[in-house]
Amino acid sequence: MSVQRVGIIGGGQLAQMLARSVKHLGVECAVLDPSTECCARSECEQIVGAYDDVESLKELARWSDVVTYEFENVSASAAVIEGEKEIYPSTVALGIAQDRHIERSMFRELGIAIPQYEPVDDESSLNAAIQSIGTPAILKARRLGYDGKGQVLINDPDNASSAIETIGHVPAILDKFVEFERELSIVSVRSQSGDIRFYPLTQNVHRGGILRVSKAPARDVGDVLIRQAQDAARRILEKFEYVGVLAVEFFQIGSGNSAHLVANEIAPRVHNTGHWTIEGAQTSQFENHMRAVMGMELGSTDPIGCSAMINIIGNEPRTGALDALPQAHVHMYGKAPRSGRKIGHVTLNAPSNDELDSLLERFTRIVG
Ligand code: AMP
Repeated sequence: MSVQRVGIIGGGQLAQMLARSVKHLGVECAVLDPSTECCARSECEQIVGAYDDVESLKELARWSDVVTYEFENVSASAAVIEGEKEIYPSTVALGIAQDRHIERSMFRELGIAIPQYEPVDDESSLNAAIQSIGTPAILKARRLGYDGKGQVLINDPDNASSAIETIGHVPAILDKFVEFERELSIVSVRSQSGDIRFYPLTQNVHRGGILRVSKAPARDVGDVLIRQAQDAARRILEKFEYVGVLAVEFFQIGSGNSAHLVANEIAPRVHNTGHWTIEGAQTSQFENHMRAVMGMELGSTDPIGCSAMINIIGNEPRTGALDALPQAHVHMYGKAPRSGRKIGHVTLNAPSNDELDSLLERFTRIVG
């Protein structure tokens, strides 16, 4: 039976773009979200309910042929669905991505290079970790951290107690501060039949722990870095017989012949560093995720020209002025502006990197 209806746990911008991506295939979607103002409402049905409300989850399962999710903190909800309908990606991958220590242990087990780190439970284990790793280092809550939340930079070893206080005395990891050359990510996808595809590497700039700009295909990446990133993603996809889109974020250390990658984290879902694929690839990450979840063949991940994606964060900039820049694809999610909140993104697309750079200059002049 071909899949006609996909249920999505969460109704934010990722669900909105997932639902939009399969309209042309005649697929219907429904999201489960507690807010009657959630972004995805503009694109599909909504079941209004908490992400962990068993009755609402069962209603979503009844409505759907298959279920997916747009964020990772839903393993208990996913388990409820599992009893009723297929849910992809699997709950195993979800559980791993939810806990930074388990995630790092998985990287290690699969032979994927990672930054030096130690698990930390309290002030005394933090002091021991600082002794072994040194400073600067970053203390990161094991669970529920995203966009730089639940993280604190430790420059002074005497600040252990205030750092633990800042993240709220929760289990954490201490990461050595990586003097990276740049940040790169790979968006990959695996189908139910085991076909694996990769989008080109994306180069990302974060500030305050939040992604600001992605450029793809990343420039000056040789075969070695591409192979390292693809190998890492492939090992994870195959280990979990994963179905759907998986993103892996890396730090590039060194340049030229000494360049290599260390993995920071995975996202078992469509990812902000893959938003450029809507205009910049033959098939977007959103459509390919849905294709995988629905048991369809994957579409081509080949890029179309060169792309830059700029997140719109906090207050809406003068995006209206971008009418003068027809190459700018503006995506507003319909969210109320709030400090630090991602409320939209703009993708610029050009046939070459030189043309993309001049577009970026014009964009910056217009938007400021
Ligand atoms: P994360 O929540 O782990 O994705 O971290 C958000 C951002 O903080 C990353 O994209 C980096 O810009 C920065 N960051 C995280 N971990 C490290 C690290 N060990 N060394 C240097 N920068 C880091």
